[in-house]
Amino acid sequence: MHFVDAKAALSRPNGLNIYRGCAHGCVYCDSRSTCYQFTHPFEDIEVKQNTPALLEALLQKKRQKIVISTGSMSDPYQPCEKELKLTRRFLELIDQYGFGASVHTKSDLVLRDIDLFESINRKTKSVLQMTLTVADEGLSRILEPNVCTTARRYEVLKAFQKRGVPTVVWMTPILPFLTDTEENLRAILDCCFDAGVKGIVCWNAGMTLRSGDREYYYRALDRHFPGLSGRYRRQYGDAYEVNSPDNERLMRIFHAECEKHRVIHDPDECFRYIAEIADRQTQLPLFE
Ligand code: SF4
Repeated sequence: MHFVDAKAALSRPNGLNIYRGCAHGCVYCDSRSTCYQFTHPFEDIEVKQNTPALLEALLQKKRQKIVISTGSMSDPYQPCEKELKLTRRFLELIDQYGFGASVHTKSDLVLRDIDLFESINRKTKSVLQMTLTVADEGLSRILEPNVCTTARRYEVLKAFQKRGVPTVVWMTPILPFLTDTEENLRAILDCCFDAGVKGIVCWNAGMTLRSGDREYYYRALDRHFPGLSGRYRRQYGDAYEVNSPDNERLMRIFHAECEKHRVIHDPDECFRYIAEIADRQTQLPLFE
């Protein structure tokens, strides 16, 4: 881990990353791609130590209340977050200044901050976004080795449901010849429906692969599934979009099941839902 000062609080519209790099070790991680131009090993977490100060200055000035997101390029609940508590500070500031928050993670460390999610959601809006993509526990340990498994993430979603904090699941990537089965899809959907998620983000039953990410993924396949990387090479070459041969059928099931359970299943609609903000204070009745 090493510390730097960021130049600006937000690294994209309404979004910030407190950490750069990730220790969770997912074999399919797109953030490893060379296009992101890492100048340090991916697992050597870069900590943007001044993010809270920059964020506070921004929130003091900003008039329009918006939902600020974290977790798009790096999981905000890195193991070092246990001591550093920068993501917790992010939530404290959002809560203090009456903004909305959305956090995307795979880690159960997020449970530590559930009180803040609840408090923010009472005033404006908070959303927990969680990735669930591998239902089988053994496979989850191989594919996402350093973070809690899908079963534990389901417990986290249930805990947020109990506290009335909305959740959105990212069911992506779906790995050709590994997790692109109807059984896996239905098991994840059952978790989502049971945990009352508002939306599920899934573009295709597939994944993306590009330089940097592809080599890392193929090395993991060679370690755990001998011969499979050759199958990928033959089937997909250097393609960026790598969809399951069963993509269309699986996506038909996905959309039909979400429709049946009234869960948002259009990615753009999911993002609109996450970004919508409600000033719940002004919606309280005048006389109670
Ligand atoms: S949690 Fe996200 S950023 Fe971290 S290794 Fe996994 S896919 Fe990459």
